[in-house]
Amino acid sequence: MASTVREALERILSNAAPLPAEHVPLREALGRVLAEDVRSPIDHPPWPNSSMDGYAVRAVDVARAKVELPVVLPVRETVRAGQPPAAPLTAGLAVRIMTGAPVPDGADSVIRVEDTDGGEERVTILDARDAGRNVRPRAEDLRAGEIALERGAVLGPAQLGVLASVGCASVPVHRRPRVAVLASGDELVDVDQFDAVRRGERIVSSNGYTIRASIASLGGDIVDLGIVADDPRAYAERVRGAAGCDLLVTSGGVSVGAFDFTKDVLRSLGAELALWRVAMRPGAPLGFGMLADMAWLGLPGNPVSAMVTFHLFARPLLRRLRGERNVFQRPIDVRLREDVSIAAPLTHFMRAIVEPERDGWWVRLTGPQGSGLLTSMARANALLVVPPERVTIRAGELARALLLGDAALSSPVFEL
Ligand code: AMP
Ligand code: MG
Repeated sequence: MASTVREALERILSNAAPLPAEHVPLREALGRVLAEDVRSPIDHPPWPNSSMDGYAVRAVDVARAKVELPVVLPVRETVRAGQPPAAPLTAGLAVRIMTGAPVPDGADSVIRVEDTDGGEERVTILDARDAGRNVRPRAEDLRAGEIALERGAVLGPAQLGVLASVGCASVPVHRRPRVAVLASGDELVDVDQFDAVRRGERIVSSNGYTIRASIASLGGDIVDLGIVADDPRAYAERVRGAAGCDLLVTSGGVSVGAFDFTKDVLRSLGAELALWRVAMRPGAPLGFGMLADMAWLGLPGNPVSAMVTFHLFARPLLRRLRGERNVFQRPIDVRLREDVSIAAPLTHFMRAIVEPERDGWWVRLTGPQGSGLLTSMARANALLVVPPERVTIRAGELARALLLGDAALSSPVFEL
């Protein structure tokens, strides 16, 4: 019996837990996942500071200022960013102040410079609109002891900035998954042997490239086991190179052909087979098992099947290992531009192009859907999901899709 996509995912993820933590320098932490809550050891900002270039004053002293009747105050000092004021502000005085500079005690307002004559000894204030404004309180962003960033956070630019602000120079992150990649098939060569391809004797192992790139884009460390011939002994020998990895991703040889013995080899090495068929198209044959502590995911050889099964199954697994909390991709609702029919009661993942319109997302297929048509994958920006019970979906009807990257959100024109 074939598993549903959901059952297969449950089985694949049932043994997976986030990898242990390690510390990396903040500058190298981009894309990693935080393994512990990080608390701020300080109030941030550390002092009440001005959000304007202008004059720190007391609101009561400037409340009546207007162009016809300006308020004139002596300027006691100029405070630059990074310089503490000499003394608290007393009644009837102003302090010239720059954005980010500490606001002296006693001041509750900063009058923007545009509402003054810009004076250095005395200042003429022409408007009261900033009375009581433009002072950012101490600890406005974070209080000492407060959690600045929670574990499970994926570290992008904003998160790295927060960690920097609170002095986290060495960041506790989950270890990167170590992933071994192995392609099998007598017909395969790498691009450096393209002469054999020209002669019509071999094809290039494109799976090596699509799978390694997919792993790299998820922050995995790759152990490339290359290409192995359809020979069980050579295969078993090559798999040894995966020792110490968290995951082994193979492609090819999981179907029912006479030379499809990937499953047998993995079983002979001690893997218990938890999966071998999924009710989906493309990519029905799919192997999964544990080889001691290492997970094995046996993707089909067809280039599109390998990519689609990687997207559906390897991606959430790697996201779980690297510590992410939200490991599943949210589908989007899409409206069909054309009729789409399926020929078998399987969940179909069709190469598609989605476009955002004012009334939501619209979708069309890239064209023929054969599982060997890797160019269809290169043209697609999404997978249209057609469930087994929907034999035909008519143009204008709704379905769901999974975005492949964020290409669908890029545009040649500025829109806002
Ligand atoms: P298999 O899963 O080994 O039966 O292979 C299914 C189809 O995928 C065959 O047409 C293979 O030639 C092709 N194939 C298998 N492995 C690769 C690979 N690494 N790169 C490109 N095509 C492959
Ligand atoms: Mg093969």
